[in-house]
Amino acid sequence: MTRAIYPGSFDPVTKGHLDIIIRSSKIMSQLTVAVMENPRKVATYDVEKRIEMLKVVTKPYKNVEVDYYEGLLIDYAHQKNVDIIVKGLRAISDFEFEFQMALVNQKLNPAIETLFMMTNSKYSYLSSSIVKEIAALGGDISSLVPPEVHAMIVSNFKLD
Ligand code: ADP
Repeated sequence: MTRAIYPGSFDPVTKGHLDIIIRSSKIMSQLTVAVMENPRKVATYDVEKRIEMLKVVTKPYKNVEVDYYEGLLIDYAHQKNVDIIVKGLRAISDFEFEFQMALVNQKLNPAIETLFMMTNSKYSYLSSSIVKEIAALGGDISSLVPPEVHAMIVSNFKLD
């Protein structure tokens, strides 16, 4: 059994995130997409909405579940008895931070491995923040987020 956690803020889930979910779920027996609070970011969507969006887009993938955890990722992985953390890597900018996180997590629990999956070149520029910036200025985000998420954002999940 290869079970992994894919953590992030998913505020909201983008096509870049979904691409990592689909590709990593193919090589794992079970993948848990974990919505985590990031102390460095102020969330736009509350946890329930982020979970709802993730559940809708991951529905076709039977070995993918969505969960929420408040606390240290390494404690969550241990609690769930999972020893693989999947991270997506975009440009050089992601590398330094993710490298530091992977090493600190290795220090905290050497039994848990961080695996990096390279972004799909189609989505290398894509982040939740860029989606929100475009949406806030009235731009078209339909090519940046899954269609179900786009529908949710433009209807009931409109930014205040
Ligand atoms: P962001 O707000 O930057 O989109 P998240 O915390 O939601 O960040 O990201 C969760 C994980 O998904 C991180 O490992 C991040 O590097 C990865 N990720 C985010 N966007 C992409 C993308 N376009 N391609 C590949 N990986 C991505």
